[in-house]
Amino acid sequence: MAQLNTRKKKNRVGQVLLFGTIILCAASLLFAAWLLFVPNSFHHFQTLDRKNSTVQTDSQSDAISSRRYVAVLEGNTVQLVGLEAERWTSNDESVATVDMYGNITGIKQGRCKITGDKGDTYQVAVRKLEIREGCTYVDDILVVNKTYSLPKNYAPGLEPIAKDAFLQMQDAAAKEGQQLYIGSDYRSYDYQVQIYNNYCKIYGWEIADTFSARPGHSEHQSGLTIDCNTIDDAFAETSEAVWLAEHCAEYGFIIRFPEGKENVTGYKYEPWHIRYVGIETAQEIQRYGLTLEEYLGVMSEYAQPWQG
Ligand SMILES: [Zn+2]
Repeated sequence: MAQLNTRKKKNRVGQVLLFGTIILCAASLLFAAWLLFVPNSFHHFQTLDRKNSTVQTDSQSDAISSRRYVAVLEGNTVQLVGLEAERWTSNDESVATVDMYGNITGIKQGRCKITGDKGDTYQVAVRKLEIREGCTYVDDILVVNKTYSLPKNYAPGLEPIAKDAFLQMQDAAAKEGQQLYIGSDYRSYDYQVQIYNNYCKIYGWEIADTFSARPGHSEHQSGLTIDCNTIDDAFAETSEAVWLAEHCAEYGFIIRFPEGKENVTGYKYEPWHIRYVGIETAQEIQRYGLTLEEYLGVMSEYAQPWQG
């Protein structure tokens, strides 16, 4: 009897082990499939609900400094919201005007200040948008996002100015024990067609749009964008990511999709994705805690559903 019980026990233990192994294998397979097919950016999808041409000035805006800076395109109007009614004045109405509701209208390219009677002062930048050979420039900065695209034939490769700046930054980082390298840089229109279509097949365009740029809308096609190191959320936890965020502006780069600005940029936080904008611009963007969209006064939203 004792022997029989032991054998039964052994059988039971064997069964449990076998069952456990099968579960483990299945879980590993599922996890591997998940890693392979679901892009990192998908994990942090957030809905976009930014109101047109509205600058949040209340506690929803995380950086105090960004509440003090407003960019508006020539001929456009943005409204300051979340403030109690104040009397606003512009110190240069030939650049921008402001009405009693906080509507700021850009008149001509330039800078001025608007001040409220309770002492709030905003730096106002009125920007000029130009389209040259199918590319959109705002104050001569090339803009590629969900609103503004590049032509199919725009194929500069990695721009030397961005590459040189990266190499300098890489050297400086290495001296402080940080290993930065290029994970991905220039991507052609055709390559983006493949990537995007592939995601559309798997997820449908509505979900694909949340983590993958439509062809022509990828900033990687501009040749001014680099993904550093591993394109993975885990990068945020590395000392390289901390160094990059702190120092990239010194070399003319910005963290293009900052944390908490998903509703402005249209993309989730990507600590590895940097965009070359030039040192002066990058440092101003960093100082005010802005996104490129906020700095230039532009939107990032697709005009219509994907037509296939
Ligand atoms: Zn990228």
